[in-house]
Amino acid sequence: MTLPPNVHDAEPIPAAARDAIDALMQSGDLFRYTAPQDAPVALLESEFAELLGTKYALAVSSCSAALFLSLKALDLPRDARVLIPGFTFAAVPSSVVHADCIPVLCEVGQNYRIDMDDFAAKLENVQAVIISHMRGHTSDMDAIMALCDARDIPVIEDAAHSLGTTWHGRNIGTIGKVGCFSFQSYKMINAGEGGILVTDDADLVARAVIMSGAYEHNWKKHKSPHGDNSPDLEQAFARWQNQLPLYNLRMSNLSAAVIRPQIPELARRVRDGLANHDYVADRLNTSPHIHVPAPLAPERRAPDSIQFNLVDLSDEDTLAFAAAAEARGVKVQVFGLSEDNARAFWNWQFLPEQIELPQTRAMLMKACDVRLPVRLTRKELDVIADILLASVGEVTAPAMAFGT
Ligand SMILES: *Cc1c(COP(=O)(O)O)cnc(C)c1O
Repeated sequence: MTLPPNVHDAEPIPAAARDAIDALMQSGDLFRYTAPQDAPVALLESEFAELLGTKYALAVSSCSAALFLSLKALDLPRDARVLIPGFTFAAVPSSVVHADCIPVLCEVGQNYRIDMDDFAAKLENVQAVIISHMRGHTSDMDAIMALCDARDIPVIEDAAHSLGTTWHGRNIGTIGKVGCFSFQSYKMINAGEGGILVTDDADLVARAVIMSGAYEHNWKKHKSPHGDNSPDLEQAFARWQNQLPLYNLRMSNLSAAVIRPQIPELARRVRDGLANHDYVADRLNTSPHIHVPAPLAPERRAPDSIQFNLVDLSDEDTLAFAAAAEARGVKVQVFGLSEDNARAFWNWQFLPEQIELPQTRAMLMKACDVRLPVRLTRKELDVIADILLASVGEVTAPAMAFGT
């Protein structure tokens, strides 16, 4: 029998990164603003903007930093209310608190996407929204943009886990006013840590660049991907010179050197991740006790993990299922049942306002999460699917064990 695969190791970093890192080691040129031009971070920004088809990109220390800077760049007043989904990673409400704003939580459905009725109801009293495409599940961006545009409410996309996902063929992260991505190790491109924001808004990016730590005239080293800066951008930098605090959330050249050679790998990773996910989803959906929610019609996903809901299982059976899978070598996270889980909203006790979300809570008690790194083979995927199906079989039909 094939052993359960290691799902924690990432793919090796492409060899080209070593040459770039060696060169940096030799020169000691690790700070993005030392070189007069073409520092690895600046090149990454051009390449990433080109990849996504946006005018501007700003590389920073994490996606959380990108979310924080996006909120600051929107110039929201202190205590502005920011609508976020009730199912996301704790870093998202944290970035809102960090920006001196108040997170307002919105219900999420059984398919992990924003509940549009609750979203519409709560939109009246908010000044901005962050759409967190949690685990790469895209919420209904058509409905969200229609509602927000009608009220002139800016939309920040938390696309941390959505690099390579498209909506009507358009890149996720480019639909709202600003999109934020992560290069933390569990995301599609791995630099250990890192983040980037993309936008077409010159004023917003100028504010974010300065606040990220482009002190004095370092903003001159930020170019749009097509070379010379537009007058819009130059004017925006001039407007904000010396007007904004510097939070120093810059990316190091070392991180950029690790990220850049992974960009050409992205298309393959997305293709393999989706094929792997859909293969396991089809197998899991053969069980009446497992439901893998379908994507929305305009969405083409880029998954590196799978989420599914257990059907007609008590909390006790759900825990027994997770234990049975773990005993066989597959780790299942049940978002709402593991202690102190950072994706369960009731553990965000640092929020200035607590709120109960019954629908999201019910989903979190049934929703399971299993890592499926894109490098897994069909055989390894079968081992994982076999184990999950056997484990659910064990807890739902215990009588069978004593058989006739
Ligand atoms: C990983 C993740 C974040 C945080 O990204 P960092 O780069 O670690 O700050 C935020 N939101 C979502 C949905 C994520 O998956």
